Amino acid sequence: MPLVPMRQILDEAAKGGYGVGAFNVNNMEQIQAIMQAANDTNSPVIIQASRGALKYSKMIYLKKLMEAAAEEFPHIPVSMHLDHGNSLETCKEAIALGFTSVMMDGSLAEDGKSPNTYEQNVDITRRVVEYAHPLGVTVEGELGCLGGIEDGHGAGLSADEVDAHLTDPAQAEDFVAKTGLDALAVAIGTSHGAYKSGRKDPVTGEMLPPNLAMERIHEIHKRMPNCHMVMHGSSSVPKELVDIINQYGGNMPDTFGIPVEQIQDGIKHGVRKVNVDTDSRLAITGAIRKVFVETPGKFDPRDYLKPARDAAYAVYVARMNAFGQAGHATDYKGITLEDAKAYYK
Ligand SMILES: [Zn+2]
Repeated sequence: MPLVPMRQILDEAAKGGYGVGAFNVNNMEQIQAIMQAANDTNSPVIIQASRGALKYSKMIYLKKLMEAAAEEFPHIPVSMHLDHGNSLETCKEAIALGFTSVMMDGSLAEDGKSPNTYEQNVDITRRVVEYAHPLGVTVEGELGCLGGIEDGHGAGLSADEVDAHLTDPAQAEDFVAKTGLDALAVAIGTSHGAYKSGRKDPVTGEMLPPNLAMERIHEIHKRMPNCHMVMHGSSSVPKELVDIINQYGGNMPDTFGIPVEQIQDGIKHGVRKVNVDTDSRLAITGAIRKVFVETPGKFDPRDYLKPARDAAYAVYVARMNAFGQAGHATDYKGITLEDAKAYYK
């Protein structure tokens, strides 16, 4: 199966009432772990690369690795998605490279840091849609701003500022109509990275995960039942993975994630794409630290990259099962970008 347009994966997920993990990659081990997990759970899957990832690996290497993934597992529908594109130019580059889906994050200016106005966001997102759809390529946009920084991208908002930049459901309806996008990333209080803004329990003083504005997702779904929503910054940051890192010499205090149950609630209300990056980073780092501490004589990279790949694999399997995509890879036959061109006409 060639790389399929993400639109098909999201449409099928809506039909089946499940969500699909979109996992960020930088290297071969992550791609292999995702594909092995997708194969073993029979899951359709979205593999995404940020601009930072493309710079790290060099575009051509990631492209070839993703092609290899599609070739090794021809029965698994897999999309190759650009995460947080910052301009029409970046999206064009990704499409030229063979990406079957792009995100135009018009919530921020091209510097990836300062918030755009609503009109600027509509304008740039619509222009990317006008370029991508005639080529069969899927477009994700974002309305509202997320907290945290992802590969240098993000406004780095404080907890209060995040509240002021949550997605407005009425505006979301207008945004989708004006841009014609395929998937809408919503800001509901999640942040990128492992350090999400937590909150203090008023009674016990204990730090708790961030409060998510799930009611906004419910409201958007009520207004637009056919709109595919995307949750960014949705790593769960499992304590057991952070503990492994800290047990073997790491230093990651006070981390918070998004509980899987909240993501599942989103999936019940129209969330079809769930972005997870940090969890695999944690698994990989913990596994490598463990090898270094327990067997300091080892120096063959395979001795620590293999356990790292295995640890990431376990995370992907768990997420694929939790999001409900497991078991659905062979429900349908993947279409090509050519087929998608006809769909948009
Ligand atoms: Zn993101």
